[in-house]
Amino acid sequence: MNLRLTPGEAVPLTAGVRRIVAPNAGLMTGPGTNTYLLGTREIAVLDPGPNDAAHLQAILRACEAPIRWVAVTHTHADHSPLARILAERTGARLIGLAPPADGRQDETFVPEHLPADGERLQLGGVAVTAIRTPGHASNCLCYLLESERLLFTGDHVLEGVSPVILPPDGDMSAYMQSLEKLHAYDFERIAPGHGSVIEDAKRALDMLKRHRLARESKVLNALRRMGAATLDRLTPAVYDDVPAERHSWARLTLEAHLIKLARDGRVIVYEGSWRVLGA
Ligand SMILES: [Zn+2]
Repeated sequence: MNLRLTPGEAVPLTAGVRRIVAPNAGLMTGPGTNTYLLGTREIAVLDPGPNDAAHLQAILRACEAPIRWVAVTHTHADHSPLARILAERTGARLIGLAPPADGRQDETFVPEHLPADGERLQLGGVAVTAIRTPGHASNCLCYLLESERLLFTGDHVLEGVSPVILPPDGDMSAYMQSLEKLHAYDFERIAPGHGSVIEDAKRALDMLKRHRLARESKVLNALRRMGAATLDRLTPAVYDDVPAERHSWARLTLEAHLIKLARDGRVIVYEGSWRVLGA
């Protein structure tokens, strides 16, 4: 089966689920944001994507049935800005959590329904469970389509890359707990916010966790080697496997690691210099 990530095309993924990729491919968005259409007689749009006229038209064109709900996984600018516009066009109800005030969010998103953790949402013929998964952003939600054992993760889990965690709203401790929490739910595939469907879902979660813990060890080892170091000095040492053009983002995720390690009592910061505790 050829499941393309070409912008503008509505590609069927499984019963009652289609994907349209937004035309916003880039360093942080991979092939572009995945917008998912759930349902047939009534449609729920999940992560409508950036405010882009062509993408809006592609969504409207693909939906021959009325759009009743627009749900978002979180409110970063590549996921939610079309939500309000779609709702104004169609009368759809907005579902998601309000944008936190960190200056990196789509402030136009004003949800009408804020799902509780574990709440089951009946969206026409489609039932999904909303799961709160703070970490990548504090208002991240995953949506579980039990009938297909398919989990929509937004940027909590991505295909092929680990998501950036941008403090202070992004929180590495919360992220790790949210990864762990998903194991309690029954699903076998992941429909991420960017990239193709991930087939072996639980293995992907384990790999992400291992990747984060390996990075954490690398942070501690670099600090032991360097004695004490600023974020600027630590970044190239800890992310020597990541191209330099990504280092400004890596620096922020490194900060998220350090905040977690400080909370865990493993490192301490003094006047901008980090060092290992008890080394
Ligand atoms: Zn995001």
